[in-house]
Amino acid sequence: MTHLEEIRRRIQIAAQKSGRNTGDILLIAVSKGQSPSKIMEALRHGQTDFGENYAQELLEKIAALKDEKPTWHFIGHLQTNKVGKIIDGVEWLHSLDSLKLAETLHKKRKTPLKCLLEINLAEENNKTGLSKDAALELMPKLNDFSNIDLKGLMTLSPCSHFPELVLLLREINERRLYPKPLTELSMGMSGDFEKAIKAGATMVRIGTGLFGRRSS
Ligand SMILES: *Cc1c(COP(=O)(O)O)cnc(C)c1O
Repeated sequence: MTHLEEIRRRIQIAAQKSGRNTGDILLIAVSKGQSPSKIMEALRHGQTDFGENYAQELLEKIAALKDEKPTWHFIGHLQTNKVGKIIDGVEWLHSLDSLKLAETLHKKRKTPLKCLLEINLAEENNKTGLSKDAALELMPKLNDFSNIDLKGLMTLSPCSHFPELVLLLREINERRLYPKPLTELSMGMSGDFEKAIKAGATMVRIGTGLFGRRSS
């Protein structure tokens, strides 16, 4: 059994505590390292959105679950040479982090792909993502790519940085660096999603808290 009911309940309580609507927070079940049968079980309980980190693993799961058609979010680092493999199977990319990746996505994708810019707020060298300054610089250039539909920001940084992601989104919107207002904030994992909801997350990415330990 997954812990879907419990996680939903915790999301609801966290939302209520901060005066937010539960419906404004999307639960992304991070299914990397979990079997298709676990995904099937979550689907049967009404979970629609799933996150994967690795192109090959995602391809195998898309094939195994082609009749169920879950909404796939690619949340891992995406190398430009892997874009072609997965590009038509995903609805969201949480890890846009370079102009080169944006160019490749634009070329290979036939319809606009919903994207989030990945921000490394702590500027940790071992983590992927753009610094705030690099993101502000990249933002206007993304206007040129009609197949990129930028929706917001994502971070893997520790929870103490969540408020900074909120401020960055606000700054981008106030300075109109992108033609449409950005609305999505993807932050928070199993250990800190309640803090993320308090800070303003619209998407939380939960793996082990839902499915238990990963097998790979
Ligand atoms: C693995 C992963 C998660 C989920 O982490 P858990 O601690 O298992 O909830 C969320 N986001 C990203 C980008 C991940 O790689």
